[in-house]
Amino acid sequence: MTPEPATLERAYRVRLRPTKAQARSLQRLMGARRFVWNWALQQQVEARATGEKRPGAADLSRALTALRQAPETAWLAELPRQPFNQTLRDLDRGWSNCFAGRAKRPRRKRFGTVQSARFTLDQRRAQVERSIGRVQLDGIGRLRFRVTEELAGRLRSITVSRDGAGRWFGSFTADGVPVPDVVPAAIPSVGVDLGLKDTAILSTGERIAAGRRLAAKLATLRRYQRRSVRQRDAAAARQGLDPKRPLRKGTRLEPSKRMAVTKQRIGRLHARIADSRRDHQHPVSARVVGLASVVCLEDLAVKAMGRSMGRRAFRRSVADAGLGELRRQLAYKAAWRGRVVSTVDRFYPSSTTCGDCGHVHAGLRLADRRWTCPACGAEHDRDLNAAINIEREGPRLLAEGSGKPERTRRSRGTHARGEDACAAGKAPPVGPPTSTNREPDCRAAPPPILTVRRDGPTRGGGG
Ligand SMILES: [Zn+2]
Repeated sequence: MTPEPATLERAYRVRLRPTKAQARSLQRLMGARRFVWNWALQQQVEARATGEKRPGAADLSRALTALRQAPETAWLAELPRQPFNQTLRDLDRGWSNCFAGRAKRPRRKRFGTVQSARFTLDQRRAQVERSIGRVQLDGIGRLRFRVTEELAGRLRSITVSRDGAGRWFGSFTADGVPVPDVVPAAIPSVGVDLGLKDTAILSTGERIAAGRRLAAKLATLRRYQRRSVRQRDAAAARQGLDPKRPLRKGTRLEPSKRMAVTKQRIGRLHARIADSRRDHQHPVSARVVGLASVVCLEDLAVKAMGRSMGRRAFRRSVADAGLGELRRQLAYKAAWRGRVVSTVDRFYPSSTTCGDCGHVHAGLRLADRRWTCPACGAEHDRDLNAAINIEREGPRLLAEGSGKPERTRRSRGTHARGEDACAAGKAPPVGPPTSTNREPDCRAAPPPILTVRRDGPTRGGGG
């Protein structure tokens, strides 16, 4: 199997308890980070317009120092410097992701969209008091956090963020965390199919149901979202615009009081859904990592939502959020146990392929929970059949070297949004992904299964 590292990297998420004054400083810091991002982007745009080279993080950092000394932007100097350097580096990475075709070009950030800030932790200073839960941050003070588990290893950084319900969280990154003892796996591989509402079906036939409360919350979310759309349409109509047509860029809708309330409720509900999802997914990730050496699951759909939040888009985004959380947990739990996670491309027809004969039943509808294979007559439970196919496909991809074994060290955000490359002409052309991409772009990759491979199981193409 894989060579065992003696230590690993991981993240610890803690609930922060800032005082009112600290919360205000943090909120100001978020706003200032947004300001610096937009300012830096503006510098780059202006430089390009005059034919100069685009200034990078180092150039901008020097310009930022000058900005902090300028009288009209002196307020920047009252805030800690470090998160701004991070902002400039993020911008640099935004551009390189854009040129590699992994993301759209960096854009101006709107009010309220920056809700996190990263601080690196100096190893020479004792900034973190682990046992009592305090972290000393420059310009903010000594922040309290709740201690729920022992923080092991060297703590390298903390990202402070605020969720939709207004709660503050900190995510520590740590390295040098000792690896727990590896327990041998009971079976070589397991496939997981995550249904809507987060019920997991394993290829062994085991079913791990999520609580009913999550389903109820999702139903409420859907209701609020419909309400939000209605209110937005009404606001557009009040301004004499046709709600059926897309708003012209830059149009501001005058928000009503009710709109603001709905928005706040949606934010709070999202936070609560994320909470229960985390709780529900822990038994699943713990179970599969304990069970098998290779854990196979489906990839996320690259782009979950179209413009409108229709029923299908909603279902897909819900399913993706569940998978995303499961993947996050698997990434670190797999590393603890020395397991490998293999993700199977979304284009692999796991639900419609017959697990017995390989026939692809193209006519299968989403509502068909049970089906009979027209080619061999086998009877299938939709989800179990999908889990079995995923379990078969995952190790095969790994063996071919085309699977995507995931480790704890993941590149951030390449999957969440990565399908269109830059709109600007400066970027390399979109279309087929460059072969140098470390992670193959799942959308542009050709459907991998329908061609018959050398020694893979033969699968008929389309029936
Ligand atoms: Zn069949």
